[in-house]
Amino acid sequence: MVARRPVVVGNWKMNGLLASGLSLVQAIVRGWRDDSRLDRVDCIVCPPFPYLAEIARAAVGTRVAVGAQNQSAFAGGAHTGEVSAAMLRDVGCSWVIVGHSERRSLHGERDDQVADKARAALAAGLGVIACVGETLAEREAGETRQVIGRQLKPLLTVLSERPLAEMMVAYEPVWAIGTGRTATPEQAGEVHAAIRSMMLAAGVGSQAVRILYGGSVKPDSAGTLLALPDIDGALVGGASLDADDFLAIGRAALR
Ligand code: PEP
Repeated sequence: MVARRPVVVGNWKMNGLLASGLSLVQAIVRGWRDDSRLDRVDCIVCPPFPYLAEIARAAVGTRVAVGAQNQSAFAGGAHTGEVSAAMLRDVGCSWVIVGHSERRSLHGERDDQVADKARAALAAGLGVIACVGETLAEREAGETRQVIGRQLKPLLTVLSERPLAEMMVAYEPVWAIGTGRTATPEQAGEVHAAIRSMMLAAGVGSQAVRILYGGSVKPDSAGTLLALPDIDGALVGGASLDADDFLAIGRAALR
């Protein structure tokens, strides 16, 4: 059995301004420092781009790591409005989320582009939180496994190129994101086990890669989900904007 450290990731999305972001990270840093049980849980916060440098500075030397919510697949050059992995590293990020469903649905990101972003991030020394998840229509059509398999395939190729790379997979059913509707433990557990077996079948990163659940995780729903053996942590949107709720989810991730 490989012991995987539980992790909670806060995706702040496009919320707040610098002052509120700094207060939030300071409260999370204090909370993680003051509860020694949380030494056993990794914590990553993902603020909006303009605040990364300052929030990363506020988190230096603490238990809280900082990640970005997106990044370019390109290393540099004529890509107006884009941000490279090296730039993220330079301002103190150690992680990046790729393939969030809002990037896929609102910005048309394809599976191969998501994998290219993951590849660029790992090459620059960032850890990757790669999101996969089916829409409600896909679930109702019985296509969940097929959709997850399609999204995962190019990411597994990236993992096969860098078997020791820091990559986590976040299963985020699109119908559960920001809707208040959480997957049942059975639904989440089934997909997490399927992801694990797809990794096993591909012969990459099978046991060491952490698989997170995301989709309306709140303090009261976190305990049941995070107790499942295949769920190694949570990617949290709305509830990550409240330090007390985020800390409570961190405590629910304790094994
Ligand atoms: C997310 O943005 O990844 C997410 C899971 O959001 P929420 O927790 O608000 O559903």
